[in-house]
Amino acid sequence: MNRRNAIKMVTLASAGALVFRSQLTSSVTAASTEPEGPTGPHVLPPLQYPVDALIPYIDGPTMAVHHNKHHAAYVKNLNTALIGQPESLVKTSVDDLLKNLNDVPESIRTAVRNNGGGHYNHTLFWQLLSPKGGGQPKGILAETINKTFNGYDKFYESFSAAAAKVFGSGWAWLSLTPKKTLVIESTPNQDSPLSAGNYPLLGIDVWEHAYYLSYQSARADYIRNFAKIIHWDFVEARYEKALH
Ligand code: MN
Repeated sequence: MNRRNAIKMVTLASAGALVFRSQLTSSVTAASTEPEGPTGPHVLPPLQYPVDALIPYIDGPTMAVHHNKHHAAYVKNLNTALIGQPESLVKTSVDDLLKNLNDVPESIRTAVRNNGGGHYNHTLFWQLLSPKGGGQPKGILAETINKTFNGYDKFYESFSAAAAKVFGSGWAWLSLTPKKTLVIESTPNQDSPLSAGNYPLLGIDVWEHAYYLSYQSARADYIRNFAKIIHWDFVEARYEKALH
């Protein structure tokens, strides 16, 4: 390689680095601003812990972009879909929209399914996680998990397998059926267990946006580490409330 080509390559490499750095800076800066669009009726709930609280299991930039960009976009797009719809529909909770998707006008049904699902699933997801999480479930939930799945380890094995098997983007869940039994299931995209009549208690987001910055293609490592930040007290309370 002659000197001129070497200089050219170094110049190109640093230009690439600059572009990358400016993209990174702009995404972090932009993460603190709300996306443009309608501001209601659905709103982005604030995270109840700092974006870097789940380190080393989930990194800060992943949490920032996941909450401030991805979740915010689901909320914005859901609100946009509801513009001009009857007031009764606009005022319907996201839970009820997803439970009764067939009552949603066909023209916006897919938008509500995807973005309402995205809003509901992520609102639940942030609460399922805690820097003080991990360990194992307690109380009646622990008893039922033990009975249903033959112990916590077997449960997490099946839950992990369901999460690993999701092809492309989706979620794996621990859900409560209408008969109040526990099941492990998965859904594609942002589909919610609510739309199939189940009630999600615990869910793992296996869209690449949930883990790719730290884990790249190692989804199995993300799934294993997810166990260390599950807020079991929250899941247990959700289960007990759903039983009664
Ligand atoms: Mn997500």
